[in-house]
Amino acid sequence: MPEIDGYECSACGLKLPAGQEGHFYVASDMGERVPCARHDESGTIARVLGVDEEIISSCAWNPASRRVPVDLMEERIGYISPCVCLECLTAFGLDLKRDARKCPACGNAGVKTELEIVDGPCPRCGEGRIYPSSAIPGSVPR
Ligand SMILES: [Zn+2]
Ligand SMILES: [Zn+2]
Repeated sequence: MPEIDGYECSACGLKLPAGQEGHFYVASDMGERVPCARHDESGTIARVLGVDEEIISSCAWNPASRRVPVDLMEERIGYISPCVCLECLTAFGLDLKRDARKCPACGNAGVKTELEIVDGPCPRCGEGRIYPSSAIPGSVPR
């Protein structure tokens, strides 16, 4: 599978960085966001929340299970979406349900998720569309 290493406009050549992949996280007691390890989501959640991993995995199979601290999980588990600032082109991750859409580098509110950017109109020229660099002919792979 080709790696996506960035996005660019088909018309003006504006380049946008590819951010990190989206991932789930669990907030610790201290409010620190611990990213869930890929393929070990339930293990990370169990560790951070201090509950038995069995309980977490049974929740995936049986969401109605009364043994599961569902409220706690709803409160503490979030999803980080990869975002890009359209002003300074910084790539970063945001929990769109909890975080304000604001660039941590320049403070600009013109922030879009990668999903919103890709295959959308170019924020600079408005004429081209944004595609993964690898999909644009003539773009030199890095
Ligand atoms: Zn453009
Ligand atoms: Zn910015």
